[in-house]
Amino acid sequence: MAQIELKDVGLSYFTLKQETEALQEINLAIKHGEFISIVGPSGCGKSTLLSLISGMLKPTKGKIMIDSLEVQGTSPKVGYMLQHDHLFEWRDVLSNLMVGAEIRRMDRAKAKQKALELLERYGLGGFAHHSPTQLSGGMRQRVALIRTLVAEPDILLLDEPFSALDYQTRLTLSEEVFHIIKDQGKTAVLVTHDLSEAISMADRVMVMSKRPSTISTVHEIQFDEGTDLSPWKKREATRYKHYFNAIWKELEEHVVPSI
Ligand code: ADP
Ligand code: MG
Repeated sequence: MAQIELKDVGLSYFTLKQETEALQEINLAIKHGEFISIVGPSGCGKSTLLSLISGMLKPTKGKIMIDSLEVQGTSPKVGYMLQHDHLFEWRDVLSNLMVGAEIRRMDRAKAKQKALELLERYGLGGFAHHSPTQLSGGMRQRVALIRTLVAEPDILLLDEPFSALDYQTRLTLSEEVFHIIKDQGKTAVLVTHDLSEAISMADRVMVMSKRPSTISTVHEIQFDEGTDLSPWKKREATRYKHYFNAIWKELEEHVVPSI
């Protein structure tokens, strides 16, 4: 059964001057534990789609369901990870991890224990009392992910979480984040403009057309080399190049206007 379902979803932004139709007729079903990547031209509505799933935006048309219930505003079931980590520089790592718990008025002792456990488990055990300024960009993003996990969401929405990082860090971090998400059994929706990241992390890659945007194609990513390959191994798998070329070509058609 689908955990996240979008039925004929459309979203228009209204300003005093104009109406911008960002998304139209989005139909989508995501299973529990599935990893979905979304790629598409800049400005096509990828972030808008995540905001809709998170309940921060309400669709102009159609319905969004999570666990068979219509989404009505934000919910602790859904966690967000963004391009910028938004860590507070004046708080230490542990106290940054408590922010979500404080906002949600979760049990402090329980949240703190969970935060410390996650730090330890994902290689940041010694950094609980460091300031974010003492951490590398990759470590900061790992802290941001752990902060999201402390609130125990079932679903993670990732909006270009690696794009502010240098190439080598993003390769390492995407590998780590992939393993953390699988280890925690979360459902994930990743928006990225890095095609190799999209293919190597996801079970399915969805390609969006230019605005007003819809999902133009869906690619099931499967490799003969195995069903539980790491992103690193997937990049070396035989069919990887096939997926890359096919999706690249589609994106080009959406980006370059036909003459
Ligand atoms: P993407 O993440 O794919 O780059 P967005 O979802 O951010 O695209 O934006 C989709 C379209 O909606 C863009 O044309 C953008 O200018 C417009 N848009 C986004 N947010 C707003 C807003 N708050 N008000 C009006 N238009 C918006
Ligand atoms: Mg965006």
